[in-house]
Amino acid sequence: GRRRPEYERMLSDLGAGRVDGVIVYHLDRLHRRPRELEDFLDQCARAGVRDMACVTGEIDLATHDGQFHARILGAVSRKESDDKSRRISRKHLEIARAGRVSGGGARAYGYAEDRVTIVREEAAVIREMAQRILAGDSLRSVATDLNARGVPTVSGREWKSHVVRKILLSGRISGQREHHGEILGKAVWPGIIRPRQTLRLRALLGDPERRTKRVPRRYLLSSLLRCHACGHTLAARPIDDGRRRYVCAKAPGLPGCGGTFVMAEEIEGHIIEEVLGRLSSPRFEAAAGRRVGQDDARAAEAQRLVDEAHTRLEELAEVYGRGEITLREWQAARLPVTQRVEKAQVVLRRQTQTTALEAVLGQPGGVDAAFGALPLARKQAVVAAVMDHAEVGPAVRGLNRFDPSRVRPAWRT
Ligand SMILES: [Zn+2]
Repeated sequence: GRRRPEYERMLSDLGAGRVDGVIVYHLDRLHRRPRELEDFLDQCARAGVRDMACVTGEIDLATHDGQFHARILGAVSRKESDDKSRRISRKHLEIARAGRVSGGGARAYGYAEDRVTIVREEAAVIREMAQRILAGDSLRSVATDLNARGVPTVSGREWKSHVVRKILLSGRISGQREHHGEILGKAVWPGIIRPRQTLRLRALLGDPERRTKRVPRRYLLSSLLRCHACGHTLAARPIDDGRRRYVCAKAPGLPGCGGTFVMAEEIEGHIIEEVLGRLSSPRFEAAAGRRVGQDDARAAEAQRLVDEAHTRLEELAEVYGRGEITLREWQAARLPVTQRVEKAQVVLRRQTQTTALEAVLGQPGGVDAAFGALPLARKQAVVAAVMDHAEVGPAVRGLNRFDPSRVRPAWRT
């Protein structure tokens, strides 16, 4: 735990033989952990200190009985301290369950000091952040933009990706109470966004694929191209002359075959043209419209499953907490429930793809202009919503210009 300089000074005085007895109010003031007590006893034995006095009586540390007594007192104080921290965390859980406000720390962005009243300007920023992330924008671009506009944070420091992420993942902003990250239900404070949006944000921002994606956003087709020969995803790489390309990377730790590469600008131009062509066709607009309806129905069903699963997990935790089932039984019972949650989250993530398309479909300036005006991350989201991936075939020997027949897109619709 915490460093205690006075205590350390006492130990070193003991070691140096400068003291020949110790007086404490109670043993639990001296040691919080059994290991500390053992160190103390060693030190006393080495220094020849025998006497320790406390309000419960004197202990002769030189005898086995005395040491035993000190150990018992230590174990009792350890248990009391454990009980206390257990009581405190149980209290927090009760507060969270009841949907009440728990105090401490800085106020949350979007809410005043009372943690219930909405701060209007901040609520508008939260809605904007949520909407942009759900449409495929990146955390970094949202943070950069807020800094450029001079929008203040709670601490007065700069916006950072992880700050935006933390706000958007919290159940608080949709008026939900949570405990250790799990949403328990409705809270007493009003929401700024809808609970369904929180679910989708959690599905999206909790996506491990998104966290490990370290490829710079200069590459529209990152993770969307596959090698025809080995099936692995092409990696984005610049070459010495500064031109970007996608390669089947063969290196220690990389699974590729090293046999395929394609110049980035050429294939990106080609795929954008294909994607926009598809998006402009009346057939696609009709299909996309149908899909929006289906996705809404599926998302509603997914949300119902997630809600149900959370209730079930809460019940299981209570049963386990009361000692009615063992740890192993609890874990076994949890497994199928968490698996259902994961499945439902896949559905919610897919709905994000539909949201990405709303930025380009039905815009007054037309699909091409709307697409051209989007930041790269959102362009990427639009392409990924239409195309699952594209296979890149072998280059034709002696052919200088880009050959579109090398690319075989797998369309989603
Ligand atoms: Zn390959």
